[in-house]
Amino acid sequence: MAMVEHERDTGRATSDPAARKEVLKRVEQENVRFVHLWFTDLEGHLKSFSITPAELEDALDDGMGFDGSSITGFNSIEESDMVAIPDPATFQLMPNGATKVGRMICDVVTPDGEPYDGDPRYVLKQALARMKSMGFDTFNVGPELEYFLFEDDKGTETLDEGGYFAMTALDAAWELRNETITALESMGIPVEYVHHEVGPSQHEIDMRFSNALDMADHTITYRLVVKEIAKKAGYHASFMPKPLFGENGSGMHTHQSLFTGGRNAFYDADDEWSLSDVGKAFIAGQLQHAREISAVFAQWVNSYKRLVPGYEAPVYVAWSRRNRSALIRIPLYKPGKEQATRAEIRCPDPACNPYLTFAALLHAGLEGIEKGYELPAPMEQNLYHLTAEQRRERGIVALPETLGEAIDELSTSELARRALGQHIFDRYVEIKRKEWDDYRVQLTDWEMKRYLSVL
Ligand code: GLU
Ligand code: MG
Repeated sequence: MAMVEHERDTGRATSDPAARKEVLKRVEQENVRFVHLWFTDLEGHLKSFSITPAELEDALDDGMGFDGSSITGFNSIEESDMVAIPDPATFQLMPNGATKVGRMICDVVTPDGEPYDGDPRYVLKQALARMKSMGFDTFNVGPELEYFLFEDDKGTETLDEGGYFAMTALDAAWELRNETITALESMGIPVEYVHHEVGPSQHEIDMRFSNALDMADHTITYRLVVKEIAKKAGYHASFMPKPLFGENGSGMHTHQSLFTGGRNAFYDADDEWSLSDVGKAFIAGQLQHAREISAVFAQWVNSYKRLVPGYEAPVYVAWSRRNRSALIRIPLYKPGKEQATRAEIRCPDPACNPYLTFAALLHAGLEGIEKGYELPAPMEQNLYHLTAEQRRERGIVALPETLGEAIDELSTSELARRALGQHIFDRYVEIKRKEWDDYRVQLTDWEMKRYLSVL
């Protein structure tokens, strides 16, 4: 089993024979009519095509060809033949529906069977390979995806006035959330914690932590399930980072820890914060490189409308035990819970590509461990309340303020180039720069109202 895990995490895309047999058996027993094959483009949009069970054996052996030139960030027309090889360990039945449909998540390979550099899942596998070469066996992550429910996808009419932990009468989406949880669990995604968030019509369903590869697969599944179930009820679920002006945005706080041989490498009983040297250096790495990888965990123009003071989203690059305005928070240690010692990074948003985000976060943390970065002192005061002068004195820098600034940082980052690989790095910078260029020439309502009559 350990071997199989190892191959899934780091090796070439191959079908593990036992898992492969199991899939064929289940498809037959359950009378599955179609199997969706999923992968993501660079921005994390889910791409899917379907095959019938008759094709399944071939697909598991050799993969299924598709035209990569129409996938954002993949190859250009001249070299567009791509192959998707389903990972049999990811086989799940889609929830509900009269027709039985299965799904598997794919690795993308070139026609000669080599991993494709443009495949975000491969980028994450490469990051996990680096981790293993440094003596850790698991990167555990627990992302908390927040989202809004709207009446439809044309506007932002909310379903309730809600508020943090609001219950029943105000919480129109209670039923919907239950249905979503049942669907997630039916797809092998355990759920731990569910509640109404601070914003009106804003929700959070937290999946139980898992290794980063499974969790990235879970995350793309989660987004689809949340959206589909909302749609069935006539609503629109959105993971847009900041859909409502003046309200909290939606974050994807990500809890992280490294394990070796079943033991939490972040825990040290003798430390005042219960943090090991490894844990401290990991956090130092993420603080040090946060600005460079910001365009990965917060990839949209709109992401930077969320990362502003006053809405429980982080702005300043600092860590803390309690303070939610810090970039990284160490949840308080509870006796006997050494396995739960972890770093919660609060800047990613739920519209990121989870494969690239987990990979970039892991590389930044590993860099800290490898180079032995020093962890700065924690900042326990509310950072929103510090003046620019006070922040300067304490050496606290801010995250990029715009996607443009984030791309400038990314484009000169050696760490990001290594983390993403040259192919994705170049495409990513190009695509995101274009997004920023499209945006910055827009005339906004705000400036027309502010300037037209007075200038
Ligand atoms: N919605 C807030 C954010 O943008 C976070 C609220 C919370 O603490 O869960 O990150
Ligand atoms: Mg939350």
